[in-house]
Amino acid sequence: MNAPRVTVVMGTRPEIIKLAPVLLALEALGVEQDVVFTGQHYDPELTEVFFRGCGLRPPATVLEGVGGADRVDQITASIAQLSLRMRAQRPGAVVVQGDTNSANAGAQAAHYLGVPVVHVEAGLRSNDRAMPEEVNRLLIGALADVHCCATAANAENLLRAGTPARAVHVTGNPIVEATRRALPGPVQQSRFLRDVGVEQDGYVLATVHRPENTDDPQRLRDLLGALGDLGLPVLLPLHPRTRARLEGFGLAVPAAVRLHEPVGHTEFLSLAAGSRLVVSDSGGVQEEVTVLGKPLVVVRNSTERPEAVDAGFSVLTSAAGVREAAASLLRPEHLAALATRPSPFGDGRAGLRIAALTLAAALPPAGSVPAPAPAPAAAARAVPV
Ligand code: UDP
Repeated sequence: MNAPRVTVVMGTRPEIIKLAPVLLALEALGVEQDVVFTGQHYDPELTEVFFRGCGLRPPATVLEGVGGADRVDQITASIAQLSLRMRAQRPGAVVVQGDTNSANAGAQAAHYLGVPVVHVEAGLRSNDRAMPEEVNRLLIGALADVHCCATAANAENLLRAGTPARAVHVTGNPIVEATRRALPGPVQQSRFLRDVGVEQDGYVLATVHRPENTDDPQRLRDLLGALGDLGLPVLLPLHPRTRARLEGFGLAVPAAVRLHEPVGHTEFLSLAAGSRLVVSDSGGVQEEVTVLGKPLVVVRNSTERPEAVDAGFSVLTSAAGVREAAASLLRPEHLAALATRPSPFGDGRAGLRIAALTLAAALPPAGSVPAPAPAPAAAARAVPV
């Protein structure tokens, strides 16, 4: 059999969600996959639940000593274990997604071993080097051989930095199809809302987990205060990092804000679709609201996803500006326009394009008869944008 084996490295919830469409498309192409989970986030039990929720088998391998370690230890421990695995498996290509320490380690290990690196969600830039994610993006951008960009603006960022045009492809972001696939029908959506005890259109859904919001007690207090001041009940599924900081700083939570355990993806999307407004510092949520047609206040210093702001789905602000941003987004004519506006992040076929590009870039298995492969650009064109 001549089909190459592809290693896919991931370590966090958003990577599982966004790589699921790529894995399913690779499977449909008959490509053997080696899924390695670094364990950067979440215990193995939660991980398994998340993989199954995205229609995937649990990962073949979970690395040791990565979750809970600091940044340098996460990256070095991952590289050490990934390089051992890649030497044994000899993949034809390695796929990484986004801007995590896991993606950074996967790209480094593969590059140093001479294995082509495919980067999903390439070319995002916040131009804020204080964000660990921005440094990861820059490093992965330097190492990748195939850059799969969600938007033309992301491709422009790479071309401006001198990336060869033949390596840059606008594929869309697989979050579009992942969101469509995971969002249940109206009956199940209402059941989720009832189970959690919120009313359609009568609450705000919030998420907070970026260090810029969680690691300074004053900023976290201000953000909680802003959420408590919106005039609607707020549901806040708590990221483990945020829970630890809240408890560590001993902060009081306003009466209008209800803390909740993190929820599964299908449940989260149902809660976002049923809410009046979303407030978040998440990257993935900035994309998902554009598929759901919902308004979002992004509470951050900067965003690497200006497309959602330009298309009117989100407003970027500090905690002090949340109320005003919410009022502007919640104008009835604006809400009506958002409900039918297309997502700027793709058409729902990104996973297919990325799988085709991966197959075209992959080295043939050792000892196989080389077959003429289409150039990556030609393979991508086979799935029209
Ligand atoms: N998410 C989820 N359950 C939750 C909160 C978020 O499934 O309780 C999903 C959300 O739909 C999105 C992803 O997790 O797809 C975002 O992850 P996160 O905000 O942790 O990371 P980021 O996207 O900022 O890297």
